[in-house]
Amino acid sequence: MRGISREALARDAAWSLADGNCKGMAARWGRWERHYLAAEAVDDRARALLAPAEVCIGCPILAECSDLAELSGYTGIAGGRAYRNGREDTYRLRVPSKPRRVTA
Ligand code: SF4
Repeated sequence: MRGISREALARDAAWSLADGNCKGMAARWGRWERHYLAAEAVDDRARALLAPAEVCIGCPILAECSDLAELSGYTGIAGGRAYRNGREDTYRLRVPSKPRRVTA
């Protein structure tokens, strides 16, 4: 990775966030994130991402924002996606295993 530390990359990404489309939306963003994290059903979580994703579409620093979410271990919504501890949130997205067939 060209000898650049993760901390330096995160610092640079954080610096550029002030130029994002969500500038000045901290309170609304916080509500969206709380709503997302409180949603239990997959459909509710997907719906909770719609409004922030609309803001992120076309954001000039989307790639940097996603990098920062990963590098900083972010939990919340960034770059139009949900993160949990710096990884894309897949909570409840896995297909539940089929029930085992009981044989007599
Ligand atoms: S990608 Fe989305 S969350 Fe990130 S700075 Fe841009 S608007 Fe904000």
